[in-house]
Amino acid sequence: MATNTPALYAVIGNPIEHSRSPLIHRAFARQFDLELTYEKIWAPIDGFEEAVNAFVKRGGRGMNVTVPFKLEAFDLAGRHSERAERALAANTLVFAPDPAEPIFADNTDGVGLVNDLTFHGVNVSGRRLLILGAGGATRGVLAPLLQQAPEELVIANRNPERAYGLVEEFSDAAGDCQLSGCPLAGIEESRFDLIINATPASLTAQLPPLPDALVGSGTVAYDMAYGAEPTVFMEWGESRGARALDGLGMLVEQAAESFTLWHGKRPDTAPVRELLREEILAAAQREAED
Ligand code: NDP
Repeated sequence: MATNTPALYAVIGNPIEHSRSPLIHRAFARQFDLELTYEKIWAPIDGFEEAVNAFVKRGGRGMNVTVPFKLEAFDLAGRHSERAERALAANTLVFAPDPAEPIFADNTDGVGLVNDLTFHGVNVSGRRLLILGAGGATRGVLAPLLQQAPEELVIANRNPERAYGLVEEFSDAAGDCQLSGCPLAGIEESRFDLIINATPASLTAQLPPLPDALVGSGTVAYDMAYGAEPTVFMEWGESRGARALDGLGMLVEQAAESFTLWHGKRPDTAPVRELLREEILAAAQREAED
């Protein structure tokens, strides 16, 4: 690769066309006058490894990984951060200049969520938390949330066995936190301080069956999904008096963590949050006009 060629990065997934990662990473790079190329790569469901190898051959230095490849990304790497080991899933890969060196895998989703909660002044320590969903996103955020020492953390999932499995797997990280699982349709009717929707239900405007008693004054309803409009879950929380937040900030914060790992520089996330919000609203406007 010629020395004046901008370093090559990408986000890989299936689907990938709606990914905002290129916009975010280019905005971060501008803060440091850093030249980089950041692409979107669509890979066939059974073609993840091949797509990664082709990218590395082209001189790729780092990759963000999204649905459905986070587990495969972890397996492909030869070295892992502690938080990736804990999640058994990776959303960030680092490729050394020498392709013989092992790939390094990290998981920045959890710290992204915690940093976003901090940004919004949401305190987790000593609080009662409820997480809806027991998939990859929940797996990624559990340990960083438990590190904040909540009083209680309940994982509620449609298939309760997956929730029980996570409780067993993460029990050693729980410390004094009371960690438990339950079916999504069987959540104990008591007030939680923070309810995190880590299911993709909002993307199809579906609302899990949630009793009103979960929300009280001071409850935060946090949806990992985001869009131009508040999600159905956010509307459910807000209409019952909760403060509602979407996952846009988590997306920007997890990207900032990947950027720092790749470039050794920590970007300012506040202007990029605004830029992304504007871009999502503008895209919705364009769609409405079409
Ligand atoms: P997975 O497919 O790994 O897991 C999905 C989970 O949601 C499963 O527990 C599944 O239950 C449950 N679920 C799926 N559909 C429904 C439904 N209609 N009603 C109730 N429960 C449902 O997905 P991820 O964990 O990777 O992602 C979850 C969401 O979080 C996605 O929307 C993703 O975009 C978002 N996300 C956002 C991030 C951000 O930065 N803002 C970062 C990472 C994820 P079951 O086990 O019973 O099938």
